[in-house]
Amino acid sequence: MYLKSIEIHGFKSFANKIKFDFHNGITGIVGPNGSGKSNVADAVRWVLGEQRIKQLRGGSMQDVIFSGTELRKPLGYAYVAITLDNSDHSLAIDYDEVTVSRRLYRSGESEYMINGSACRLKDVNELFMDTGIGKEGYSIIGQGQIDQILSSKPEDRRNLFDEAAGIVKFKSRKETAIKKLEEEKINLTRLSDILSELE
Ligand code: ATP
Repeated sequence: MYLKSIEIHGFKSFANKIKFDFHNGITGIVGPNGSGKSNVADAVRWVLGEQRIKQLRGGSMQDVIFSGTELRKPLGYAYVAITLDNSDHSLAIDYDEVTVSRRLYRSGESEYMINGSACRLKDVNELFMDTGIGKEGYSIIGQGQIDQILSSKPEDRRNLFDEAAGIVKFKSRKETAIKKLEEEKINLTRLSDILSELE
């Protein structure tokens, strides 16, 4: 699996629609300070479902929408789509190519899509779980993040190892099952209360 392309429109400094095509191997993005190099990495993080605005270097989620310049009016939405080569089927989806997109309007309304079909953030998270690419992944290492990883609490650092070991989806399923079990326990208690009232 590798990143084939990124399409950006209205995200941070990218007012015009732009598409970056990548090929197998190493790609470098160079440019003057403040020209938007890190915004490309932010765009990838964002489309993968990043909800922590600090990770995207903003104050509120709407800050990712192009805010205008002296010469250009602000835009109404931010859009990012990434296309991954999935011919090795690393992603558990029956397509050789997977495109994931996210759009956010100033109203706060947002939409995610996988291969053109609307989906939930949960579906995006599940698609990338245990691949190292998702929101807890390590495929994007930002400036200062190595220091952060080394100085983080052992239990926080463990999330990284869980992702690499491919056990995040099992932990997530376990948590869902425990939650359901708790709910069923409450239902059972209610039921036995009703039964004892009827007796
Ligand atoms: P450096 O080399 O200094 O790290 P860089 O090339 O990585 O810089 P970025 O941090 O990616 O640059 O981009 C910063 C630029 O993006 C700034 O000029 C900032 O004004 C612009 N920018 C960020 N958010 C928005 C937005 N919502 N609308 C318009 N421009 C934005």
